[in-house]
Amino acid sequence: METEESGKSGFMGWYFQSNLLTRILIGLILGAVVGLIAGPSILWVKPFGDIFIRLLKMIVVPVILFSLVVGAASLSPARLGRVGVKIIVYYMATTVVAVAIGLLFANLLQPGAGLDLSAGKAAGKALTQPKVVDTLLNIIPSNPFGSLAKGEVLPIIFFAIVFGFSLSFLSLSKDNRLSSGAAAVLKFFDGAAEATYKIVRGVMQYAPIGVFALIAVVFAQQGAKALGPLGHVTLTVYIGLIVHLVVVYGGILSIFGLKFNRFLGGAKEAMLTAFVTRSSSATLPVTMRNAEENLGIPRSIGSFTLPLGATINMDGTAIYQGICALFVAFAVGASLDFGSQMTIIITATLASIGAAGVPGAGVIMLLMVLNSVGLDVKEGTPVALAYAMILGIDAILDMGRTSLNITGDLTGTSIVAKTEKSLDLQKWS
Ligand code: ASP
Repeated sequence: METEESGKSGFMGWYFQSNLLTRILIGLILGAVVGLIAGPSILWVKPFGDIFIRLLKMIVVPVILFSLVVGAASLSPARLGRVGVKIIVYYMATTVVAVAIGLLFANLLQPGAGLDLSAGKAAGKALTQPKVVDTLLNIIPSNPFGSLAKGEVLPIIFFAIVFGFSLSFLSLSKDNRLSSGAAAVLKFFDGAAEATYKIVRGVMQYAPIGVFALIAVVFAQQGAKALGPLGHVTLTVYIGLIVHLVVVYGGILSIFGLKFNRFLGGAKEAMLTAFVTRSSSATLPVTMRNAEENLGIPRSIGSFTLPLGATINMDGTAIYQGICALFVAFAVGASLDFGSQMTIIITATLASIGAAGVPGAGVIMLLMVLNSVGLDVKEGTPVALAYAMILGIDAILDMGRTSLNITGDLTGTSIVAKTEKSLDLQKWS
């Protein structure tokens, strides 16, 4: 990536002048190797990873608010409504397909079969099932500043759209006081949005170091397990994720005349950031910047669809839940018939919508999916033991599914922008 630092020599010179993605990949590979070799003795690097996550999180709410106010102000309500319907249909349809792909590969590869946990002694605590669905009502914030302070994405989206619309109406007013005031506020938000993007660019310069620390910690704690006994389920999940990426996203993009390799080139920074942070919402600033700068998606569309997607659209999580539900069933020797698998499609779709874009959200929502097919995670049961096994390697599975989650948001946003004739096609040629 381009950098404004120049004229430095030695390591610092190389650091700032070499390609950002290359540096991140080096951090990733080094982190995995060091984590696997050093084991728990490397855990002291954790704060360096936390710095990266905190820097990204710091900028999430400002990015959404400032960009979306400007974005909404530049679209008519009718156009935004059309974009909204299209993206929600896309998000739902691809999630259902994702669970089905997960189930397909779980049935084919049968992770967990032969474990026969039913005979074993089960460990694990009673886990309470989370409440799933925020009511639609909660999308309307009773106090927008409270929502901003708490980082509640859907209420922030709602308020930013309403505020942006009202600014655009006021700016058309014949009363000069109203129109000039609204124009000034819009200018302020525009400048603020640019400043947040600038911060994201700066934060990414720290990414390679943060990535090294994040990955070293995950591999020190879980790497050997995921490569070892639980390799089968890890492999099944990653096969499902890759097939969804190539077949579903690659297919959808080509149906809409967009090149898959161009897409991957433009999205790779966000995909990698999601992989290492395991958080769609922490990745959001990078996703939005990639959308605009690399994929030619206008801010008016991306600033709405991407935060929405980071909150409700999680194809990776859906695939993972389908596979892990079957893993648990196979492991305890329960057979899930066609009807139960249809139930999983419905509950995993809802669970992935309800999952927050934070690390480990999916494994909590998995409880709901298991519950829906009679596999209750209760202390001392084989189901709890199988669930605990998944929990033990969840970070490794979370990396891949989060990366696919944000890739789905970018795919949908690209095709919606294309159908709105708003995509800068030069970036794709
Ligand atoms: N970590 C995922 C995300 O942020 C959610 C999950 O745990 O499945 O998208």
